Amino acid sequence: MSIQATRGTRDILPEEISNWQRVEAIAREILGRAAYQEIRTPIFEQTDLFERGIGETTDVVGKEMYTFKDRGDRSITLRPEGTAGVVRSYIEHGMHTQGDVQRLWYLGAMFRYERPQAGRQRQFHQLGVEVLGSADARADAEAIAIASDILQSVGLKNLTLQLNSIGDANDRQAYRTALIEYLTPHQEKLDSDSQNRLTKNPLRILDSKDKQTQEILQGAPSILDYLSSESQQRFDRVQALLQDLGIACNINARLVRGLDYYTHTVFEIQSDDLGAQATVCAGGRYDGLVSQLGGAETPAVGWAMGLERLVILLQQIQQSVVNPVDLYVVSRGEKAEAQALNLAHSLRRSGFTVKLDMSGSAFGKQFKRADRSGAIACLILGDSEAENGTAQLKWLKSGAQSEITQSELMNNPATLRQQFEENA
Ligand code: ATP
Ligand code: MG
Repeated sequence: MSIQATRGTRDILPEEISNWQRVEAIAREILGRAAYQEIRTPIFEQTDLFERGIGETTDVVGKEMYTFKDRGDRSITLRPEGTAGVVRSYIEHGMHTQGDVQRLWYLGAMFRYERPQAGRQRQFHQLGVEVLGSADARADAEAIAIASDILQSVGLKNLTLQLNSIGDANDRQAYRTALIEYLTPHQEKLDSDSQNRLTKNPLRILDSKDKQTQEILQGAPSILDYLSSESQQRFDRVQALLQDLGIACNINARLVRGLDYYTHTVFEIQSDDLGAQATVCAGGRYDGLVSQLGGAETPAVGWAMGLERLVILLQQIQQSVVNPVDLYVVSRGEKAEAQALNLAHSLRRSGFTVKLDMSGSAFGKQFKRADRSGAIACLILGDSEAENGTAQLKWLKSGAQSEITQSELMNNPATLRQQFEENA
């Protein structure tokens, strides 16, 4: 049997690449205008980084990581998310000493051992931002506004922003106690993951997708009743800023992050058009992470978007487009073929998109391919053109054809450019 792509991985084929490039171009532009800078960190890191940076009680670290020993007997993990690597780099390169707030973004492949399904893969791609060094509520609002802008510019509709605050460590300690107290009598009826989390990480139970657990959670206390007045004020401010920005949100008190370094804002952007895998963007504030990983106390906020899910949505609303070809070059005969290669290369340097037919087949067959290529014009070189240093230039829509010298094409591309404009 021939070898196939590994389970949970997918080829992104040429016919779908334009949607990916579109998303990337839009993101790059919007992030650039907000003065966010791109960072590229390694695809693999020491396992320890993710254990400390994501948390051992999470699904990601507990059961989804691609971890292996390298030949030097080091424990290595393929990055399951982007934040830990960016924060490591931030600390390692002393970016906090550069005074200013660091606004960073990244895009790349992530790896998680999950059950593959629509919108869920083992190798997938995330676009993410991390804003390091600002505790201001405006940083939260700015980050959310940018995510929302990217999704809107890509053309997505039916999106909702779910927003919550999980307060600071003290608020959460009180809430944790209340939640354990509420859930303990129901312990037997919780799903087994949730039973395990009851003492280790009870907030994560709110995330459970189990139906019975969700029913029990209906009556659970709300984190919002445990916010200190300072935390509440901060949450109110984020909401007011979002409102000023014209960004609607649903307050969802069930939205949590289970780890100690998360603070205050948490949010998700979901789409109605994605079925079970509804979340396209998830993020929040993580004021404790930088110090947890050995850096100075640094407030931070960020998010990550799942690009597969975004592209699935994009495919529902628009066709992929193929890069257009300006010129299709047809030639036959040894001398003509060599000249055609030269001509194609020269025209590309002049800015034309040129496809060279290299089949050596009969002119008729090459012409058919020229028609199918979607090119605007065709350049034809046979033996007599090769002798005379000319080419036939044929406009494929009208069929009009004229002779042109090769030196004109190579040395004066402006004339050809003008003809293209007239014939477009
Ligand atoms: P989920 O609840 O869907 O597993 P998560 O909480 O594990 O999501 P995050 O770690 O917050 O997800 O990642 C941010 C985003 O990355 C998700 O909202 C989703 O769009 C995307 N994502 C996460 N895991 C995958 C995956 N295995 N395949 C494709 N996209 C993913
Ligand atoms: Mg997950």
